[in-house]
Amino acid sequence: MDTSKLFAGKRVLITGGSRGIGAATARRLGALGAHVGVGYRSEAGAAEDVAADVRAAGGNAVTLKGDVAVPADIEALVEGAHKGLGGLDVVINCAGIMQNALLGDITADHCRAILDTNVTAVALLTKAAARVLSAPGGRIVHISSRLAYGPMPSTALYSASKAAVSTLVHTFAKELGPRGITINAVAPGIIETDMTAASLAARRDGIIAQTPLARIGQPDDIAGIAIFLASPEAGWITGRTIIADGGLQ
Ligand code: NDP
Repeated sequence: MDTSKLFAGKRVLITGGSRGIGAATARRLGALGAHVGVGYRSEAGAAEDVAADVRAAGGNAVTLKGDVAVPADIEALVEGAHKGLGGLDVVINCAGIMQNALLGDITADHCRAILDTNVTAVALLTKAAARVLSAPGGRIVHISSRLAYGPMPSTALYSASKAAVSTLVHTFAKELGPRGITINAVAPGIIETDMTAASLAARRDGIIAQTPLARIGQPDDIAGIAIFLASPEAGWITGRTIIADGGLQ
């Protein structure tokens, strides 16, 4: 099969498309001929750079500003992608935040910030997308985390938020399945992005030593899995979370 054609003309909204895993996913989809809505919250210049790379690689791109922690912005992002791309076939939700706090430092604001962006947004984005996604064949991919399955001190809220992503995906699959829309998640181990710069500066060698594949994961390692789940080839997978961590112990 010629997999280079799988995304030709497919209309894809990527949240968190300005940096990290979302940016890598957008660039790869551009090379596969997709029309990409590059979602971002604050980094307009970075989003424009990604959009330019998508176009240079052969795809089309629009940039879409919106804070997924704000419900009205989610509606605007989905509507903007639907109008700007002429329809919507795929949503890949890479917007997310990580903030760590030990038990004694947890506050209501800490909980709200993480849950708004990492959990409520997953539910509301799925709801908004489900209204306009092409069906059958629509695809939704969210990003969970290996920390959902192996939490560490100070990651309680983040780990819980990512466990919620996997549970939401599992549940929504049962509602979307009858329409032929799949919804899945990827749970990465540590990936080298802005989000993990401090952790990697402190623990890079130790993480490599604990990783059978003996390197630090890169955004492209996750982009490839998200793109597979978003492709027609993944039509018999729904409600699942794929853990991708290089075998981290
Ligand atoms: P980065 O910090 O590198 O990039 C985050 C992206 O999300 C940026 O594009 C940012 O936009 C966007 N974003 C953040 N908050 C919001 C918001 N409220 N509304 C809209 N956009 C937002 O993160 P990563 O690429 O590393 O992470 C992507 C996803 O993968 C996240 O869900 C993260 O939790 C998850 N993950 C990451 C891992 C890692 O090791 N890196 C491991 C496991 C999971 P802008 O720049 O415009 O603010």
